[in-house]
Amino acid sequence: MRIVLLGAPGSGKGTQAQKLVAGHGIPQVSTGDLLRAELKSGSAPGLRAKADMDAGRLVADELVLEIIKRRLEMDDARNGFILDGFPRNCTQAQDLAQLLRQIDKPLDAVLLLDIDMDILRKRLTGRRTCSVTGKVLNIHFSPQQDLDASIAAGGELVHRADDNDETIARRLNVYQEQTRPLIEFYKSIDLLRVVDAMGTAEEVSERIQQALKY
Ligand code: ADP
Repeated sequence: MRIVLLGAPGSGKGTQAQKLVAGHGIPQVSTGDLLRAELKSGSAPGLRAKADMDAGRLVADELVLEIIKRRLEMDDARNGFILDGFPRNCTQAQDLAQLLRQIDKPLDAVLLLDIDMDILRKRLTGRRTCSVTGKVLNIHFSPQQDLDASIAAGGELVHRADDNDETIARRLNVYQEQTRPLIEFYKSIDLLRVVDAMGTAEEVSERIQQALKY
C-alpha cells in the first residue's frame, strides 16, 4: 500500500503514520525526520536545509526530492510506504507522480487529516515535554493531574525550540499557501480521502482504517 498523509503541522501525521507502520508493516517515510537525520550526520544536504528548517520555511524542492528518491529505492519500501510530510507543494506533488510513474508504483490513497485551525494552534503552542519523563504534554489539553505530576516529579515543562510562536505562525502559513492546494489536486485525480483528525489518536486511527477500506 502506498499512502500519502496530508495535513497541517500538528494534525497528527507522525502519530498516525506510526500506527499505520505497526498495522501494515510498511515504512513511514517522513521528510522532516530524514532532513533532521541529514542535519545530525553533518552531511552537505543537511547543512543546506538547516536555515530553512529553523525558520519554518520549506527546504528546496530538489534537495527534498533527492532525499525521498534515495529512501524509496531502499528495500523496505518495495511493498509500500507511508509518506509523511511529502509532498508539501505542487512541484513536489508533480515530482512524486513522475517518480512513481517511472517505477510503475502509483499511489493508492491520499489521506487528509482534517482539523480546525484554532485547535491546531493550541496543539502547537501548548506542546511541552516533561524534562524528567520525556512525556509530551499540552498545557491546553492535558489533564491537570498529568501536568501537576510532572512538576511534582521535579520536572520542568520544556517548550521545543521550533514550537515558538513565530515559527509556528510561519509553518501554518506555509501550509495554507503551499500545501493546501494539494487537496484539490488529489481530489481531482480521485485519490483524496478526508479523515476527521479531531479526537484521540485511537479515534483518528479507527477512522483511517475505515477510510482505507473503500
Ligand atoms: P512539521 O510537523 O512542523 O511540519 P516536519 O518534521 O514535518 O514538521 O518538518 C520540519 C521542517 O522540515 C519543515 O518546517 C521544513 O523546513 C522541512 N521539511 C519537511 N518536509 C519538507 C518537504 N517536503 N519540503 C520542504 N521542506 C520540508
